[in-house]
Amino acid sequence: MSRRHFPVTSLGPGIRAGLWVQGCTIGCPGCMSLDTWDPAGGSTTPIAELLAWLCERPGLTGVTISGGEPFQQPEPLGALLRGLRAQLPAVDVLVYSGYTTAALRRSPRRAAAMQWCDVVVTGPYVARRAPGGAWRGSANQRLEILTPLGRERFGAVGEGAGAARPLQVGLDDGRWWLIGVPAPGDLNRIEQALARRGVELADVSWRPRP
Ligand code: SF4
Repeated sequence: MSRRHFPVTSLGPGIRAGLWVQGCTIGCPGCMSLDTWDPAGGSTTPIAELLAWLCERPGLTGVTISGGEPFQQPEPLGALLRGLRAQLPAVDVLVYSGYTTAALRRSPRRAAAMQWCDVVVTGPYVARRAPGGAWRGSANQRLEILTPLGRERFGAVGEGAGAARPLQVGLDDGRWWLIGVPAPGDLNRIEQALARRGVELADVSWRPRP
């Protein structure tokens, strides 16, 4: 596990909790979360503890799971989603994956986890196809709506390339986190705007560490 945050309002509709898993071998050029690639770079978190934390979030309407690649841990992901379905049935679940929909369905282990999702954003980030939509980094990625709850929450929301792309800043464990799906150039613009105010970003997740 990389980190968690509440409330999240920039990765799906409503008041959400965000969970970021640790570990991804897909390696999309231009990924803004290089800090989540190393599978040994996170911590081990019991599913029961995560579920208890989610059950205590006031006003929670949805959970977004990103990373890292959640489907590279298909059994724990499935167990977490099964628990969520049982304990918080009115809470929708959006999961981000760098695998295509076909690749997820081809793998019995990943397909087993996917059956518990309401919505999955699938496909690798492709910088030359950016931007994608409010919740997709690049236009090749697909917003797969899998359940009636997913349709109710996500179906009515405009998600095209012209859609608003909210970005949120969170402070967890003494570090600032940018939450959302930035459009091309957004990260540079934010960095330059901060520099003009005398704030230098020394260690950012979208550049390899020196
Ligand atoms: S965008 Fe997602 S799938 Fe692609 S390298 Fe980054 S974490 Fe992995």
